[in-house]
Amino acid sequence: MGELLVLIDHTEGQPKKLSLQMLTAATQIAGQTGDTVSAVWLGDGAAAGAEAVGRYGATKLYAWDSPDAYGYVTLPQVEALQQVLETSGAEVLLFASTNLVKDVAARLAIRVDGGVITDATGLDVVDGKLVATKEVFGGDLITKASFADGKKQLVGISNNAFVAEETGGGPAEVVSLDVSLSDAATGARVTSVEKQVTADRPDIAEAAIVVSGGRGLGNEQGFELLEQLADLMGAGVGASRAATDAGWYPHRNQIGQTGRTVSPTLYLGAGISGAIQHRAGMQTSQHIVAINKDAEAPIFQIADFGIVGDLYTVVPKLIEQLQARKG
Ligand SMILES: Cc1cc2nc3c(=O)[nH]c(=O)nc-3n(C[C@H](O)[C@H](O)[C@H](O)COP(=O)(O)OP(=O)(O)OC[C@H]3O[C@@H](n4cnc5c(N)ncnc54)[C@H](O)[C@@H]3O)c2cc1C
Repeated sequence: MGELLVLIDHTEGQPKKLSLQMLTAATQIAGQTGDTVSAVWLGDGAAAGAEAVGRYGATKLYAWDSPDAYGYVTLPQVEALQQVLETSGAEVLLFASTNLVKDVAARLAIRVDGGVITDATGLDVVDGKLVATKEVFGGDLITKASFADGKKQLVGISNNAFVAEETGGGPAEVVSLDVSLSDAATGARVTSVEKQVTADRPDIAEAAIVVSGGRGLGNEQGFELLEQLADLMGAGVGASRAATDAGWYPHRNQIGQTGRTVSPTLYLGAGISGAIQHRAGMQTSQHIVAINKDAEAPIFQIADFGIVGDLYTVVPKLIEQLQARKG
C-alpha cells in the first residue's frame, strides 16, 4: 500500500476549491488501488490546513511551512516536491492545472524521471494503471492516457472536473519538511506580490456558475447587464476574445484557447457564436446554456439549453425573474 500525493493550492490558509476536488479524486482512486491519500502543503498555513485536508480524505500532510516556498521563483517548490516524492516513495502526484504549477510539474518530472499530463478532466484505474482523460485540439478529441511503467505520474487536474465530497476524516497527521534549497533554487527572488484588484465576484476559473458575453453584446455597457445577472446568480463573468479585444472586458476574463479554461457547473453564454477557440475554454462545463439570435450559431451544437432570441430581451427577463424569486 502506497501513498497518493495531492499538492494543495491554497490561499489565506485555506485550500482552494480545486484542491478539495483533487482530494476527492485521489480518495476515489485510492479506494481502488488500496493507497492512502497524503496532501502536500507548501508555504504558510499548514497547521490550519491539516484539518481541512483531513475532512476531504487526506490522512497525512507533508508541510513545508517556510517563506522560502514562495520566496523564490518555481525551484523551491520543485525541490520540496522532489523530496516528498523520493522520501514517501509515492508514484502519483495530483496538482492544480494552473500555469504556475504546470511550470513546477515540468521541472519536477525531469528530476524524478516522471511524466506529466495536464488539464485532466477524469481519472480511472484500468488494469491497475492510472488513466487520465483529457480534451485536445480545442475539445474536438477526447484522449485517455497512462504513463510508461516505472515513471512517476504527475497529473494536473482541471477545475470542477470532480465534485468535492467530505469523508468525515479527522485532521491529517502533519509531517514537517526540512528542505535545504540548492543555490540554483534561490537564484530568482520574488520581491513583491500584489493581489489583483478584482470585482467582488467569483473568479471564473473557480466559479460554479459563469456568465459570459461576446461580440453580440455590441458594446461595453452590455457587460454591465451581464454583471447584474451574474450577481443575482453568484456567478463569475467571462468574455469571448472578440469582446476582450474590443476592450469591453478585461483580458484576464477571456475564456478560450488563448484565454482561461473554465469548467463550471453552469456556463451561460450570451451573444457568443461558439467558435472552436472559445469552446476550447468552456466545453467541459457541466451544463451549457446559450442565448443567441442566430439559430444556426455553433454554440447551440454543444448547448444543453438554447434560447434563440435577442439577448437584450432575454437577459433582462432573466434578471426580472431572478429578482422576483429572491423577493
Ligand atoms: C489563434 C486564435 C486564438 C483564439 N483564441 C480565442 C479565445 O481564447 N477565446 C475566444 O473567445 N476566441 C478566440 N479566438 C477568436 C475566435 O475565433 C472567435 O473570433 C471569437 O471567439 C468570436 O467571439 P464571439 O463569439 O464573441 O463573436 P462572433 O463570432 O462575432 O459572434 C457573435 C454572436 O453574437 C450573436 N449576436 C449578435 N447580436 C446578438 C443579440 N443582440 N442577441 C443575441 N445574440 C446576438 C451573433 O449571432 C453571433 O453568433 C481565437 C482565434 C484565433 C485565430
